[in-house]
Amino acid sequence: MFGIMKIKISDACKGCGTCESICEEIFEVVNGRARVKADLDIPCVDEAIEFCPEGAISKDS
Ligand code: SF4
Repeated sequence: MFGIMKIKISDACKGCGTCESICEEIFEVVNGRARVKADLDIPCVDEAIEFCPEGAISKDS
C-alpha cells in the first residue's frame, strides 16, 4: 500500500511544470503555481522533489 502523507509546495515555486510532467497523478500547475491534487506517497513524488529546479516540494511522512 502507498502511505498517506502531506506534500507541500513552497513559495519558491515558479510554475515551471516539471513536477506535473514527472508526476501528473499528484501535481498540476494552475495560474503559474503548482498544486497538489492528492497526498499519495507514490514513487514519482520523490522524483519530482529531486528534479524541481527551485527545491520547492517537500513532504511529511
Ligand atoms: S517543479 Fe517546482 S518550481 Fe516547477 S512547478 Fe513544480 S513545484 Fe513549482
